[in-house]
Amino acid sequence: MTVLLIAEINGANLQADATAKALAAAATLGAVDILVAGEGVGAAASAAASFAGVARVLVADHAVLGRQLAEPMAELIATLAARYTHVIGPATAGLKSILPRVAGRLDVMILSDVTAILDADTFERPIYAGNAIQTVRSADSIKVATIRTAAFAPAPRGGGAPIEPIEVTVSTSAASHWVEDRLSLADRPELSSAGIVVSGGRGVGSKENFALIEQLADKLGAAVGASRAAVDAGYAPNDRQVGQTGKVVAPALYVAVGISGAIQHLAGMKDSRLIVAINKDEDAPIFQIADYGLVGDLFQAVPELVERL
Ligand code: FAD
Repeated sequence: MTVLLIAEINGANLQADATAKALAAAATLGAVDILVAGEGVGAAASAAASFAGVARVLVADHAVLGRQLAEPMAELIATLAARYTHVIGPATAGLKSILPRVAGRLDVMILSDVTAILDADTFERPIYAGNAIQTVRSADSIKVATIRTAAFAPAPRGGGAPIEPIEVTVSTSAASHWVEDRLSLADRPELSSAGIVVSGGRGVGSKENFALIEQLADKLGAAVGASRAAVDAGYAPNDRQVGQTGKVVAPALYVAVGISGAIQHLAGMKDSRLIVAINKDEDAPIFQIADYGLVGDLFQAVPELVERL
């Protein structure tokens, strides 16, 4: 088996955590080449080469790949794919756009959000908002898959794979072009990869009150998340949403404040190692999956917690 792993690149930087977790999954299949594609990605290639268990790092360095737009990326990956049995990448926003296009070009199925690799042809993935696990066997000659990174521990460093530049002949896409990046600038850890997440729900009551959640997060060095109800009500920005239609997280500690525990929310956080819930309703479903539950008013409990921390 030979695997082409697509590194997650943001700008020119390697997103090491997502790439290392997808590498851990890919390495169970066979020899792994990592593709680092972008513009000015020399440092990213060196970082990718330092992971243990990498056969080669292929570097596609070209202006047309500078923003990792889906069309040129898919064209490039599809031309390389014939040499591999598997083409894999982390299920990030970017690669969830790119890899289905690769599958389309190769006329094979896309295996999305893989949480376990049973053998070279057989994969597990969640369906129905994580309420059932589907086992999928693919007869395609090339398997194209996105990996749910929360399900894998990162591959260790300590390698020294050779770095090989490759020729880039892909065309500029007429279908899309980069306009601007609007980044949320925060000092807090990134939600998808944070070790601790504090999330607020509708119970928080207002955008102003959400400062309470942020204070608790800052005390714990945590990322801030939110339920969809909190996002829809404008208490928190959209990129903080955790759940079926938001981000999937699996931190060491997840603190849910004023969140009822709807299945669509649980789909995004139930694999967290330790779950703490604060809710004034003792019958709230979140308590069924919480390791520690505090039945109480968040406006009393959270300031008290912040104070004690
Ligand atoms: P509520 O269910 O209203 O719960 C608020 C909780 O706060 C209650 O349990 C209440 O007891 C508690 N509370 C109120 N005041 C206080 C107080 N003073 N102190 C302590 N506790 C208090 N939801 C997501 O979160 N993420 C998703 O990705 C997502 N995707 C969805 C996709 C689809 C297709 C659909 C249909 C729904 C989706 N939802 C998602 C919405 C989901 O069904 C719930 O509506 C939502 O999660 C509820 O958010 P909540 O728990 O904050 O609000």
